[in-house]
Amino acid sequence: MKQYELVIVGGGPAGLAAALSARENGVQDILILERDNKLGGILNQCIHNGFGLHTFKEELTGPEYAARFIERVKEQGIDYKLNTMVMDIREDKVVTAMNATDGMFTIPAKAVILAMGCRERSRGALNLPGYRPAGIFSAGTAQRLVNIEGKMPGRRVVILGSGDIGLIMARRMTLEGAKVEVVAELMPYSGGLKRNIVQCLDDFGIPLKLSHTVVDIEGKDRVKAVTIAKVGPDRKPIEGTEERYECDTLLLSCGLIPENELSKSGGVTLSPVTNGPVVNDALETNVEGIFACGNVLHVHDLVDFVSQEAANAGEYAAEYIRNGKTAAGRVLPVRAVDGVRYTVPSMVRVEQMQDTVTVRLRVGDVYQDCAIVTYAGDKEIGRRKKKVFAPGEMEQVILRKADLMDADISELTIRIEKEG
Ligand SMILES: Cc1cc2nc3c(=O)[nH]c(=O)nc-3n(C[C@H](O)[C@H](O)[C@H](O)COP(=O)(O)OP(=O)(O)OC[C@H]3O[C@@H](n4cnc5c(N)ncnc54)[C@H](O)[C@@H]3O)c2cc1C
Repeated sequence: MKQYELVIVGGGPAGLAAALSARENGVQDILILERDNKLGGILNQCIHNGFGLHTFKEELTGPEYAARFIERVKEQGIDYKLNTMVMDIREDKVVTAMNATDGMFTIPAKAVILAMGCRERSRGALNLPGYRPAGIFSAGTAQRLVNIEGKMPGRRVVILGSGDIGLIMARRMTLEGAKVEVVAELMPYSGGLKRNIVQCLDDFGIPLKLSHTVVDIEGKDRVKAVTIAKVGPDRKPIEGTEERYECDTLLLSCGLIPENELSKSGGVTLSPVTNGPVVNDALETNVEGIFACGNVLHVHDLVDFVSQEAANAGEYAAEYIRNGKTAAGRVLPVRAVDGVRYTVPSMVRVEQMQDTVTVRLRVGDVYQDCAIVTYAGDKEIGRRKKKVFAPGEMEQVILRKADLMDADISELTIRIEKEG
């Protein structure tokens, strides 16, 4: 197999935007490897609108948003292989993949961009009690069945978890004629965007029960009923608060995990908080020339931010291919403390960073009348106030290079502080 300057693993929105940006920055030889039978990633099954408000100032469906990038990839003549599963990535950037036409093959690359997206947390990972009947699906699987395969997973539905996919599927199942009895959420706040709670639950009269979990699943062949109960601050069910719902389907929307088996095989260090690679402001991992972007790096709520981040990864991969190096000089760690769960990137290269760098982050709880405050050493360099910060909504702060040039600064800290 021919050598490529840049191999991109995953042809979702992240892989597509990274490829286009690398081409704009002078990389001729690009190959996208995608295991599915078409480009576009998870967007192909997201037929609701709400995509692209930031990028195109229009409300598009997922497939429409993806199509705009796919057309440009085709116009640019960027190579891609579909139905091709990447099996392994080595630290020396040799990528092993297989498909029905080429069999198993290896491609040596100068740089690799990881853009494999994420997967849903399964029932096994959640330790739910009760029988193991048919009728239990992850929300994303149900979405694929309804929107791509034209099959209804069930008629009476309970949903556990209020992540965006669960909220969107509550509306989708209702529009297809199912009765969604309730959405139960373990945490005292929703894991999804506010706009999805309003548009997908409130508008259809679907109750959201916060601080609740599933304590029993009945049914030997098919789900017959699901019992939920209130949980205390220790997240353990409180006896006597059980409510039983007769239903034939339980959908799980309990979090997404970056697809990181390949990152691990490539020797990439993962963050224990995001489960995605640890990267610097160039979105480069600890392995020189391996970059990461999109949901494989950390789970995003909006695809527009995935596209922006991926464009940066493409630009930096191009720089690496040109110069053979990206990192040199002073590197400042970015510490997430006091209510901030993580930041991406988690380090910045002071001399090489652009004039501004966007740091994306999530908070660990709901905070009211607070600010996200950034310190360079002891000096405050940024403060962004907001009425409410919630874990379901990704936040960002902008770092300015001019604020970081002082040689005495040894670290950056980002924290939540109470206002007034
Ligand atoms: C149900 C749902 C609803 C959403 N709603 C919205 C919304 O309303 N608005 C919005 O802006 N965003 C929304 N999003 C978010 C948006 O879809 C994601 O942020 C975006 O798709 C992430 O892009 P990605 O390229 O990182 O990952 P993906 O889209 O998951 O693409 C990753 C690609 O990598 C491929 N891949 C993985 N492993 C391999 C391998 N080993 N070999 C080859 N290929 C591989 C996969 O097949 C996939 O095509 C939603 C997401 C979901 C799941």
